[in-house]
Amino acid sequence: MQSTPRINLAICGGGPGGLALAVVLNKYCNDVHIDLYEAASQFTEIGAGISVWKRTWFIMQTLGLDVPLGKMAVQFPVDEPRPGFVYRKSDQEESGYSFNSMIIPYGSITLHRADMLKVFTDNLPPSLAFQAHFSKRLVSYEQGLDVVTLYFSDETSAQADVLVGADGVKSATRATMYRNLADIAQDSSVGLVNHLKKFIHASWSGTYAYRALVDTETLLRACPGHQAATTSMMYSGKDKHVVSYPISRGSLVNIVAFVTIPGSDGKELDGPAVIDVAKEEMIDQYKGWEPEVQILLNCVVKPSRWAIFHIRGLTTYVDGRVALLGDSAHAMTTHLGAGAGQAIEDACVLGRILAQPLVTKTNLSSAMKIYDSIRRPLGNAMVERSRASGFLYEFNELPRYIDRGKVRAGSKEELEKLGKEIYKKWEVHWSALPDKEWKAAEVMLRDALNPSSHDKSIKASL
Ligand SMILES: Cc1cc2nc3c(=O)[nH]c(=O)nc-3n(C[C@H](O)[C@H](O)[C@H](O)COP(=O)(O)OP(=O)(O)OC[C@H]3O[C@@H](n4cnc5c(N)ncnc54)[C@H](O)[C@@H]3O)c2cc1C
Repeated sequence: MQSTPRINLAICGGGPGGLALAVVLNKYCNDVHIDLYEAASQFTEIGAGISVWKRTWFIMQTLGLDVPLGKMAVQFPVDEPRPGFVYRKSDQEESGYSFNSMIIPYGSITLHRADMLKVFTDNLPPSLAFQAHFSKRLVSYEQGLDVVTLYFSDETSAQADVLVGADGVKSATRATMYRNLADIAQDSSVGLVNHLKKFIHASWSGTYAYRALVDTETLLRACPGHQAATTSMMYSGKDKHVVSYPISRGSLVNIVAFVTIPGSDGKELDGPAVIDVAKEEMIDQYKGWEPEVQILLNCVVKPSRWAIFHIRGLTTYVDGRVALLGDSAHAMTTHLGAGAGQAIEDACVLGRILAQPLVTKTNLSSAMKIYDSIRRPLGNAMVERSRASGFLYEFNELPRYIDRGKVRAGSKEELEKLGKEIYKKWEVHWSALPDKEWKAAEVMLRDALNPSSHDKSIKASL
């Protein structure tokens, strides 16, 4: 680390997005000083399981994190066709049937969140370049001409050249940014002001998720050979679905059971966002479902219920010297297991931009606009893709091409066609690799910031 850092960066939030950003900067430069402000008293992950896919794994490989992380997966991830999710029709008392067994590159890479957190924290920059500040909850910030001032709930403040808000779905960074943008828009249309104000808070997706862990041995004692012990399962039914997958080298099964209240997407949430609930509340939701689901849910000891929020169509991820990253920019429903992967992709592009020697305190804002133009279309599209996938899993939107004249509604044949549609939604995880985005960002950065390429383009235009 140079005695005077090229950039002083404040990251707000030490979840997968904020930590990945610090790890990316550690890999690609040594002249950015990072202060990471985390509201909790230590780095911690709530919830248990997390699934990632080929694109995210590619970034892990690039960062050299694939080996330690892979050792903690159920099976070491390799680039060969492996099982993804098995989709079953489950909302009937008799045994259901599978209508889509995905075989995909790498298969489902399912991990314990604590393992991912450990791998990130083991690879943070050295202490000269990085300082974590715990129990620091950002409340708001102010931008001056060449500095951002951060204000915390303990009435302290701090300054930085640039602030990255990786502070999750209830982001104080996003709330401040969109309050400011709405204030600035006061002189234009009321419609624009109201549109911007919409993003101060994330909106409820109309879905709840019950989250729990089951000990694999307990499940196998209750039902020897239960496929959820070894396979990523998606049990589908009308307005509900249950996801399960093994984690921690197969010793635990992660369960997320979804319930959608039709017509509630975007409505005000009535009640707490997260709450511990009695097991019976969860089991009641799936009364009348097939035995395989009943057995699995009966093994749960202590579920919690989470309202799932999303942010649809954020108009910018960047304002001046402040950028949003991860859930703060594009919180999404969990139906494509994509939120953390998208946060890591954001971190990869933004981190590599900030790591460029060309980027300085004076041209930071222009550089960050490139992050916005590369990542916002992808992040926002994933929010919509994930939402649409939920409709398919819960039989709320059948593909238009299903010819009801030829295929009986609700028949196995119809569901197999639905399965193909679902598969297409998942393809985004492996159809292209994320280095494409970085290469595009690199070209844009050079064009925007390099004086010689600027001269060349001016000459070319003469
Ligand atoms: C039920 C469920 C299942 C999911 N499954 C998957 C999956 O399989 N795969 C996947 O990729 N994603 C999944 N996700 C989504 C994933 O958890 C998120 O997208 C991911 O955690 C986002 O990372 P982040 O760093 O942006 O935000 P977060 O993980 O929310 O981290 C934000 C951090 O900021 C801190 N913070 C918050 N406010 C402040 C503040 N004001 N000041 C300072 N610090 C603050 C928090 O304490 C936290 O440490 C799932 C989500 C849910 C709810």
